[in-house]
Amino acid sequence: MLSPNAAPLLEVMGVNKSFGSVPVLKACSIVVDARQTVVIIGPSGSGKSTLLRCINLLEPVDSGTIVFEGRDITDGRNAHLVRREIGMVFQNFELFPHLSAVENVMLAPVKVLGTSRADAHDIACSLLAKVRIPEKADAFPDELSGGQQQRVAIARALAMKPKLMLYDEPTSALDPEMIREVLDVMAELSAEGMTSIVVTHEMGFARRAADHIVFMEQGEIIEKAPGRTFFGGSVNERARRFLDQIL
Ligand code: ADP
Ligand code: MG
Repeated sequence: MLSPNAAPLLEVMGVNKSFGSVPVLKACSIVVDARQTVVIIGPSGSGKSTLLRCINLLEPVDSGTIVFEGRDITDGRNAHLVRREIGMVFQNFELFPHLSAVENVMLAPVKVLGTSRADAHDIACSLLAKVRIPEKADAFPDELSGGQQQRVAIARALAMKPKLMLYDEPTSALDPEMIREVLDVMAELSAEGMTSIVVTHEMGFARRAADHIVFMEQGEIIEKAPGRTFFGGSVNERARRFLDQIL
């Protein structure tokens, strides 16, 4: 039976992860419903990137469970299939430097999904329009600004029609005047219902786009709150102190 309260898209339950003897994630749990945007904030070294990498099965967890679309994916056996459905955007864009913008976006659909080059080209051009750089299709990464490169990276992730997008500090490497153009694209995708987890220090974006805010510190999720509650001031003392530092 179809239910309006379908199961969450992603459930991370009690995840622990150490590097050597150093615990980096301690009993971390988050639930992300379809069409929601969750923003993760927290000091450097608190485990935010590691949490995203565990969700994307780029890092194995030591214990705990990750359920995606109702399937327990923790053991990582079908990592390549899961990763098709989870798009990831990194701080440093990580485009293929020898490929043009449109070729960067076409690559995975052609190689992984077997989409024809003609169809992949059409899809890529419409995605480059979606991220507001249709005129840059034939430009190479070194001919693009950082903000444009990051929008190509977003288009590249979207080309696989992901069910979940992970963004790891997508604007941290950008000059201030380029941050807005990337955040605007992300906010539009969120508003259209793209389920997203965003690690960022951009509190304006969090206010605008986040359904929930998660605050991490030293490997622990200290606070999880709806955006309204969080920015309304009723947050835990440690989260408040962090916010006071960055705002
Ligand atoms: P954040 O993204 O919040 O800045 P990270 O998840 O990158 O934090 O890192 C959390 C902790 O894990 C840090 O202490 C970092 O030094 C450590 N760490 C991250 N990746 C590795 C790794 N591959 N090997 C060893 N330690 C790591
Ligand atoms: Mg990080």
